[in-house]
Amino acid sequence: MNNVMNHRSCYVNFAEHLQNKWNPNLYYPEAPNQWTEDEWIRFFTMLKAFGYNIFEFWLPPTLFSPEMIKGDPIAIRFIEKMSLIIDTAHNKGLKVKMLCGVNTIGANWYHACPNDLNDRKLILMLWQFWCRTFSDVDFIGIFPGDPGGCNRNGCSYKTFIELALEIAEQAGNTNPAAGLEVNTWGTPFCCWDDDMHLVPGWDGSFAMISDKKYNTPEEPLYIWNGNQDRAKKAMEYFINRLPSFPKETIVAINLGFSPDGDATHGGDARQYAREVAAIRPIVSWDYSVSEGELVNYPHWRLPRMSSRRREEFACAPYQGGMVYTMTPKLNILSLYAGAQFLLNPNANPDDISRQFCSCIFGDEHAVLGELFEAFEVVQGWGHYPRRNWSKPALIKVYTEIIERLEAANMTKCNLPILPDPDEYRKDILWFARKFMDMAGQCPDRNLIKSQYRKYALAIYDYIPKSVDERTEEASDKFSNILL
Ligand SMILES: [Zn+2]
Repeated sequence: MNNVMNHRSCYVNFAEHLQNKWNPNLYYPEAPNQWTEDEWIRFFTMLKAFGYNIFEFWLPPTLFSPEMIKGDPIAIRFIEKMSLIIDTAHNKGLKVKMLCGVNTIGANWYHACPNDLNDRKLILMLWQFWCRTFSDVDFIGIFPGDPGGCNRNGCSYKTFIELALEIAEQAGNTNPAAGLEVNTWGTPFCCWDDDMHLVPGWDGSFAMISDKKYNTPEEPLYIWNGNQDRAKKAMEYFINRLPSFPKETIVAINLGFSPDGDATHGGDARQYAREVAAIRPIVSWDYSVSEGELVNYPHWRLPRMSSRRREEFACAPYQGGMVYTMTPKLNILSLYAGAQFLLNPNANPDDISRQFCSCIFGDEHAVLGELFEAFEVVQGWGHYPRRNWSKPALIKVYTEIIERLEAANMTKCNLPILPDPDEYRKDILWFARKFMDMAGQCPDRNLIKSQYRKYALAIYDYIPKSVDERTEEASDKFSNILL
């Protein structure tokens, strides 16, 4: 039985709030982490070798703004770089997907209202500009929100679908060769009407809608608030309108309408996936299964990643999925494994992990593949560890990781990876030592906090603070693991 999925996408989210040492910086000219052309070549060589056939990126809202496209140097620079990156990906045999929040505008993440005539014109104009600018992308992803969406002026899930249809029609002219992907993220769809909570007198700003003072015990977040009835209505409407989308349109739908693809929030999505698949091809877009957001560390979520792919394969004719990262120079084990599970959902996650470590650190250190599981102890989005650990057990494992990494001869690395193998080794060592400190007696957590900030997030000394305040919380969270 051939289980290979043909849509194997690696999604690098380099948005404003997710910048860090291991993520490319494409639009802050005075700041670090700008990848050279050679680094992009090595990155795509790595993706191809791992088994991906698509590179996916999100057009950050900072660029999706009327000020930017009037010749702002940041936009000019971004366009130059991104055009080169798209060419490089193509030369390496990868397709490119440009994902865009349907109505999220500017660095302040203004949620433009499609039911406001001027805002609607602005949305369509921006879509046209960016689709035309990157006319050679292979897929255009229409993303409902998070951030984005609207519940002002009677906006609802219907508004999103009708707007998506209009964007699809427009993209048919600017990008006739590109396939479209409509995403069902949310309960469905993220940030439209009841998915987003109500704030009286909301001005469309992210700052106001996400202000924690409006959160309630029933609605602890500003989004993900729809229930199963709402998801049903929205999906019925979408399925009814789906034949009007171009034939090549793909639908991204997870097994469940929750931030983790579970049957909570908007409920079980399996029947919808099957219904959609009868009309248009489906893929999954399971964001948090490989990696969370904000706190960066070497993830080890392989068993969940592989079981998710098997569940999808068993449930509906999925054509593939995507593997997300905000740390493409750090979480290369997750990237490797993610591609392997799309190529073969039945692959054994422990074998894959050992195989990777054997290729990277040498056969004698293949066991690092199972030891790295001890890094998956950080509470956060998508954290469902396979096992629990006592601190003494962790210390034993971290000790062995450190000894092995110190001894590894990186000239033996036989996988083409983007980070210099020795840099990669040093990064993992850095984390192993911090985790070791925090598992031990009386760690100096203030010191660790400032060390993490300096090591991982130094770029924020050069760039504006994100409107998403969670960025500022990352160092705090990192220094408070293993309490
Ligand atoms: Zn609206």
